[in-house]
Amino acid sequence: MTPSVVADEPSAAVRAVTRAYVSLLIAGFALIPAYLIAYLYVFQNPALTFENHVFHEVAIAAATLEGLFVAYVAWQCYLSSGEPLLRWLTLGFLAFVLIYALHGAFTGMAHHNMWLFLLYGPASRLAMSALLLVALLAWHQPPDPVPARRAPRRWLGWIALFLAIDVAVGILAYSPIAGELAVRLSLEGGALLLSSVNVAILLARRIYSPLMKIFGISVTSFALSSLAFILGRPWNHMWWLAHAIFAAGFFLLSYGVVQAFRTTRSFATIYSQEELMARLAEAMARTESALQELKRTNLKLEHLAATDPLTGAANRRQFIDMVDAEIERAKRGGAPFSLLALDLDHFKAINDSYGHQVGDEILRGFVQRCLDAIRPYDGVARVGGEEFMVLLPQVVLAVGQSVAERIREAVANGVFGGQSGKSVALTVSIGVSQFGRDGDTIDAILRAADERLYRAKHLGRNRVIAT
Ligand code: GH3
Ligand code: MG
Ligand code: MG
Repeated sequence: MTPSVVADEPSAAVRAVTRAYVSLLIAGFALIPAYLIAYLYVFQNPALTFENHVFHEVAIAAATLEGLFVAYVAWQCYLSSGEPLLRWLTLGFLAFVLIYALHGAFTGMAHHNMWLFLLYGPASRLAMSALLLVALLAWHQPPDPVPARRAPRRWLGWIALFLAIDVAVGILAYSPIAGELAVRLSLEGGALLLSSVNVAILLARRIYSPLMKIFGISVTSFALSSLAFILGRPWNHMWWLAHAIFAAGFFLLSYGVVQAFRTTRSFATIYSQEELMARLAEAMARTESALQELKRTNLKLEHLAATDPLTGAANRRQFIDMVDAEIERAKRGGAPFSLLALDLDHFKAINDSYGHQVGDEILRGFVQRCLDAIRPYDGVARVGGEEFMVLLPQVVLAVGQSVAERIREAVANGVFGGQSGKSVALTVSIGVSQFGRDGDTIDAILRAADERLYRAKHLGRNRVIAT
């Protein structure tokens, strides 16, 4: 039986509608910046500005610290899971921090060299969107080997590249083409294009795991923030809105990174609730079947530990337990019980004449005869090579004696070794004792039965002695 987590399954139509509704909600949420952009574009006077350097510097200092923190958390996730996506994500955050920080640092230059201040913004977004696109392309690639994850050369190489970009942007800012709209447009437009391609691939490949949804919404924000930067002018409201949209996307992506850190340290193995429920049901079914298997194995082991492998009779340990239980019952006022001690006559000679294998077959045949002669709740045990005991609950000595006689007769009249093509005559000697009459400890009644068995041997074998 497979345990079911959900008791009453709703219809396929209801499930399809709720799935579509969730998809619409996510798309609607991802596009919120677009409504704000449209609103400002249509209703605002683009000439209105809010030029506040301190506010800009504080905001960018905060963004730099936030970027450093998220890069560190993503790096920790990467070291743990080795997921290539997280390596590229870490690099994307690092690129952003190292390039964007100069946009803040050069705020004061806004009036001296406008471009030194302005170009670091789009350059940082272009670098980050390129790395985020590579990150997406690395989704679900096998993890990097552990020693490669920390390799300093790899990381330092990238950091050197980001610093080189800083220098290159600085040089560009002082070059004659700095002021051309085409420069800023191609940086910002490049970022817009890369982020849009990123989202398009995400949708085309239908990558909808929870963290990748967050990734997708964030990258959509980055694309829309680039659009707002293209539509805005320095210090006007569209320009500020572009900052806010970018920050919102960044915060959301940082939430995804922290979620990964707090769970599997990986973007690929975070599951949706639906997947988790399915996996849970599957795991419960597996546990249940393993438990059943364990129970079966335990029963088998218990049986093996209690029985003699050659004849299937109980072994000595099991027999002692059975007698102990019977003594307890008799002491609580139950009827007395009897024991038979049985030993095959001249068995050594049979082994010598017919071989050990025939001897084994005869031992099995003997146990079968005993079982045929007793009741289902009586017990036969093999306590030595060709020595056996029979427990007869609620049986007094006289009855025990007649059961013993029945066994002796069945053996003496039986044909043994038939399977091997031989016909071997067999006899058995039996001693009988009764709990209470011959003692009230296990040792005493076993001793009495044994002593009578040996007397039976001395008196010529193939007989029952009960007194
Ligand atoms: P007695 O009538 O005095 O009991 O004579 P006996 O030959 O049966 O006595 P003894 O105890 O000396 O010999 C028991 C023999 O049982 C010795 C051994 O070869 C044989 N035997 C013990 N265990 C096994 C077994 O598992 N398989 C076979 N085939 N023979 C066994
Ligand atoms: Mg013997
Ligand atoms: Mg014997």
